[in-house]
Amino acid sequence: MYDIAIIGTGPAGISAAITAKIRNKDIVLLGSPELSAKLSKAHRIDNYPGLSQISGADFAEKLRQQLDDLGIEITDKQVSAVYSMGDHFTLQAGEDMIDAKSVIAATGVVNAKALEGEDEFLGRGVSYCATCDARLYKGKTVAVLGYSDDAPEEAEFLSEIVEKVIYVPMNKQLPSERDNIEILSGKPVRITGDKSVSALVTDSGEREVSCVFVLRDAVAPDKLIPGVETEGAHIKVDLMMKTNLPGLFACGDIAGKPYQYVKAAGQGNVAALSAVAYLNGLK
Ligand SMILES: Cc1cc2nc3c(=O)[nH]c(=O)nc-3n(C[C@H](O)[C@H](O)[C@H](O)COP(=O)(O)OP(=O)(O)OC[C@H]3O[C@@H](n4cnc5c(N)ncnc54)[C@H](O)[C@@H]3O)c2cc1C
Repeated sequence: MYDIAIIGTGPAGISAAITAKIRNKDIVLLGSPELSAKLSKAHRIDNYPGLSQISGADFAEKLRQQLDDLGIEITDKQVSAVYSMGDHFTLQAGEDMIDAKSVIAATGVVNAKALEGEDEFLGRGVSYCATCDARLYKGKTVAVLGYSDDAPEEAEFLSEIVEKVIYVPMNKQLPSERDNIEILSGKPVRITGDKSVSALVTDSGEREVSCVFVLRDAVAPDKLIPGVETEGAHIKVDLMMKTNLPGLFACGDIAGKPYQYVKAAGQGNVAALSAVAYLNGLK
């Protein structure tokens, strides 16, 4: 049982991890060794105090160095669900279940609008996690909407289990060539079915599938954390980064605008201190 599970390795999550570690808490930081695409893709950052005209890549390198100096490891896992269990939280990360007394959500904001049918069929043939759900579709044909950078890898993993993968590239990356992976050019339009998913409709036609894996970098917060109160695309927080669920804090872009590094890092610090106060209150 960790004291604090921190989800996301952008400036908000890293800042939260640094403060929580300095306050001697037992933490797990879940995200990516690449940290955040929104960090590494920034050409030049002019408005971060103390780091004048730094590139996103150099900023990311400095953050990575600071994590190393403090002995903070990144657990390279995508969290697919966070369940409030009353006195603690259980996180689903791939095939692992992780328990923590408190959670800081620093997952960044989701820009993509849900596809027609995506919400309706979630859990009935729409999945956000190949590792979690691949085995349910053994011997079947599935579609993958590859938005995230690691989607091609996930599609390759799926192809080892399911009969066939229809891969729709939503960014430039493609899976390696395999007999049972078909690359479908075309824009997804909707997901259809009756009790469960039966087809993916694109602007180039309709394909019969048993599941559509929608692989984005981040999942909408109310889907990731059932029961959390949201405002549009954001988790609703107070000035101490508390959410409506006791022990759950949110910071950075996911906690609202403006979308800025310095605001994300500042809120990460506040969230960690609030989590520490919450843990002290449990004693
Ligand atoms: C091109 C570009 C340039 C920018 N330039 C500037 C600038 O000059 N100045 C400025 O202040 N701001 C700038 N921004 C905005 C800034 O990037 C964001 O405000 C900032 O990155 C937000 O930090 P964050 O930690 O909240 O989220 P993010 O940086 O988005 O990080 C979230 C992290 O969480 C991970 N994650 C999400 N869901 C999960 C999950 N379920 N499990 C595990 N990990 C998960 C993501 O993969 C990501 O690594 C720029 C943004 C872009 C795109």
